[in-house]
Amino acid sequence: MSEGFVCIRDAGGIRFLDATTRMNPNVVIIGGGLAGLCACRLLCAAGIEATVVEARGHLGGRILTVDENGQLSADGFDLGPSWYWPAMQPGIGRLVDELGLPAFVQHSAGDVVFERMSREPSQRYRSVVEGPPAMRLAGGSGALVRALIRAMPGARVFLNTRLREMALDGDEVKLTVTRGDGSEAVLTATQVIAAVPPRLLEASVKFTPVLDTLTVQRWRATPTWMAPHAKFFAVYDRPFWRDAGLSGTAQSMVGPMPEIHDATTASGQAALFGFVGIPADQRASLGEEELRRVCLGQLVRIYGAEARTPRATLLKDWAADPLTATLTDRIDMGHVAPDSTPWVTGVWQRNLVLGGSETSPVEPGYLAGAVEAARLAVARVLNEKVTSRHPQPQ
Ligand SMILES: Cc1cc2nc3c(=O)[nH]c(=O)nc-3n(C[C@H](O)[C@H](O)[C@H](O)COP(=O)(O)OP(=O)(O)OC[C@H]3O[C@@H](n4cnc5c(N)ncnc54)[C@H](O)[C@@H]3O)c2cc1C
Repeated sequence: MSEGFVCIRDAGGIRFLDATTRMNPNVVIIGGGLAGLCACRLLCAAGIEATVVEARGHLGGRILTVDENGQLSADGFDLGPSWYWPAMQPGIGRLVDELGLPAFVQHSAGDVVFERMSREPSQRYRSVVEGPPAMRLAGGSGALVRALIRAMPGARVFLNTRLREMALDGDEVKLTVTRGDGSEAVLTATQVIAAVPPRLLEASVKFTPVLDTLTVQRWRATPTWMAPHAKFFAVYDRPFWRDAGLSGTAQSMVGPMPEIHDATTASGQAALFGFVGIPADQRASLGEEELRRVCLGQLVRIYGAEARTPRATLLKDWAADPLTATLTDRIDMGHVAPDSTPWVTGVWQRNLVLGGSETSPVEPGYLAGAVEAARLAVARVLNEKVTSRHPQPQ
């Protein structure tokens, strides 16, 4: 993937465009996360020219797989999503199969540690496997992103390009974007798929004409799944906790991490990760160094002295990421409720479809929701095209 705003062609045929490229695409997808990439793949398969506009310097959005130095990696640790449940989420299971990606079961063999109170010793329980297992992708969830890029030949992708404003202009939409070098450009599209969390879209993009009040209220009230959270990783030379009969899973009412898991990769890079339970504002005032210190301290408390010397630690605070979270997400911990009523009403209905995970009527907020939301958004766009080209008899 290109980090800069340069024009390249890779083996998959995807085009990363430079500042001189003419910008008048047909269907524009805002956001190159899982939903945006799935939408692009489906449009390519339907022979529709699609353009992805992504504000970050890389694709994947909340999918973020890095090596122990924190660099994007084809075999690393998932600072964003790591699990999917194909038995309950057949859509993403099918996608993984279609893309031919190897997967493995989340490691859970061994005892679970439970910390109830700081003045009590922790307790060990035999782990009980309930329901279908959580699955992980070999190489990390970023494998999905790389495979999708290969599966959208001819697609156009603008990186470091952030949508600022959308304006209706007759049958078209004018999209004002800011590019990495600070310059502005205007793209024209007939259809826009906004594969961005609705709350972020409402907070960061100006609409002309303005959205109706009910739409604004609904988008604002839709929490972006996991946006308030932070993940901490400690990478080790070997998964030493397994020698002691521990699974790596721990639950804690003491903190700072209420939930810890084995994050060892399919290739054998050993790691533990935990969700940081300290609220976003407190995390910000504690600072990254102190957060790493207290999280590591908890791992030493639970897993012993060997946990004290990781090869590396990684911390990703999603609440501090302006391309995922808004200020509201720092305090709102809710999960979006599935809802199949239209996300866009009024004058914008004809040219704009929301397609991010949070808008899915099934598994909203999850990877599976992103796959389904993209499918529905593309179906809407294709229908719109059929209708506008071949008007139905009244
Ligand atoms: C810590 C964490 C753990 C998670 N764990 C799991 C898990 O185990 N299993 C699971 O199923 N789900 C999990 N999730 C949720 C999962 O990550 C999301 O469901 C999924 O990645 C959402 O994909 P998306 O494409 O809808 O949105 P995103 O991935 O958020 O993509 C939106 C994209 O839009 C871009 N963008 C935003 N604004 C603009 C703009 N104005 N102009 C241009 N581009 C813009 C962003 O940069 C981003 O790339 C987790 C999420 C987090 C943060």
